[in-house]
Amino acid sequence: MRIDLLTLFPAMADGFLRESVVGKAVEKGLLRFQAHDIRSWSTDRHQRVDDTPFGGGPGMLMACQPLFDAVDAVASPGCEVIYLCPDGEKLSPSLARELAQKSHLVLVSGHYEGVDERFRQAKVTREVSIGDYVLTNGTLPACVLVDAVARYVPGVLGDGNSLTADAFNGCLLSFPQFTRPADYKGLEVPPVLLSGNHAAIEKWRRDQQIEKTRRLRPDLLKGTDTTP
Ligand code: SAM
Repeated sequence: MRIDLLTLFPAMADGFLRESVVGKAVEKGLLRFQAHDIRSWSTDRHQRVDDTPFGGGPGMLMACQPLFDAVDAVASPGCEVIYLCPDGEKLSPSLARELAQKSHLVLVSGHYEGVDERFRQAKVTREVSIGDYVLTNGTLPACVLVDAVARYVPGVLGDGNSLTADAFNGCLLSFPQFTRPADYKGLEVPPVLLSGNHAAIEKWRRDQQIEKTRRLRPDLLKGTDTTP
């Protein structure tokens, strides 16, 4: 899988790559990831990438020319061009899994008040939000998307079973986990986890998932079978 990120802040993505599981996946050749500076496509002699909005209003907008040229330079036939924006489709496990099937993603990070609408209409094939809040630019949202998607790329997670133990897998939140020591300053691990009885452990974990989901995210349980 190949991922190209178009941003005004490519160095923000470098840190994420250096320090993460995604970085390791890139080193192993499981994933290709490159961040590009949109400014380098600007034909303006001062390399400007923004301008004031027609009709007035606060702030600046990213203009068409550098964005159109940047996408044209990195896109491949059939690739998904994703604009990260607060009003896009909400990032979810199913969307991350779906995007992990694609061979090439081009991610576009906005800045200022966003981008010229004509770019969204002409070049963007999908719009994705990481949540109902507004950040100053789309580079962190793009890194969040890359991280969420990469976990579904075969080989990226050392143990494929990690995915099945995650929150939201099968619409339930994750179960509580503990590691050694079994007694830390009087705080004890639930005895069932030390019993060696795998069926009892499975049942305890599922009960915990259902109880936790009911308490914290009852909306997820609608339509979910919670029988043992
Ligand atoms: N005026 C825009 C609006 O209200 O939709 C907000 C622009 S925001 C200040 C600048 C850029 O940050 C956006 O173009 C987008 O790329 C990114 N961004 C901000 N919040 C985001 C979110 N929740 N999800 C994805 N991208 C986001």
